[in-house]
Amino acid sequence: MTAGPLVLLIEDEAQMRRFLRAALESHGFRFLEAVTAQEGTALATSHNPDVILLDLGLPDLDGLELARRLREWSTTPIIVISARGQEEDKVGALDAGADDYLTKPFGTGELLARIRVALRHSALAAEGRESPVFETSHWRLDQARREVTVRGEVVHLTPLEYKLLATLVRHAGRVLTHHQLLREVWGHGSAQPHYLRVYMAQLRHKLEEDPARPQCFLTEPGVGYRLRWP
Ligand code: CA
Repeated sequence: MTAGPLVLLIEDEAQMRRFLRAALESHGFRFLEAVTAQEGTALATSHNPDVILLDLGLPDLDGLELARRLREWSTTPIIVISARGQEEDKVGALDAGADDYLTKPFGTGELLARIRVALRHSALAAEGRESPVFETSHWRLDQARREVTVRGEVVHLTPLEYKLLATLVRHAGRVLTHHQLLREVWGHGSAQPHYLRVYMAQLRHKLEEDPARPQCFLTEPGVGYRLRWP
């Protein structure tokens, strides 16, 4: 039997640890758990997990601060798990270097999808084989040619629309905060949050089959946007 990816869970809630252990072990993952930030840091150091699941409300340290500290020395994907209605915490954790988040309560399907996205990103990055082509059933981006097509027809994007699209593609499947998108696309300084709404509407208008019911460019309420990874 081959060993599956190793997941480290840092979570003080026993019920959540039992649920996650059962869900992940039954899908071939190896599983480590820690109850405190201190224990989690020790296990992250000694076992070098493939993915870290991090609860934000820990007894000994704010999970947000832990995400920031882990990011100082580790590139392991961090998926934050937090309670509903804590949008500010989620945004803070993502801006601190977490890769994604799950809102409690969540199902096994959603959990596995998020973990797979994180593992795909780290595998591609490790092997240096990020493809220049990103394709959905409706549109296609070829970054080598800087060309976007919808059903084979070339679509003109403005330089900022293109930059926004390329940024979303680079992080496909993951949520990006408003702050991250503004920083990556517009750089520091002058950008206003409403620019993002305007440009996202333009991308949807040009690339979505039905811009009123986006299938690719998804809004994460109170947090940011996510490009669905087909
Ligand atoms: Ca907790």
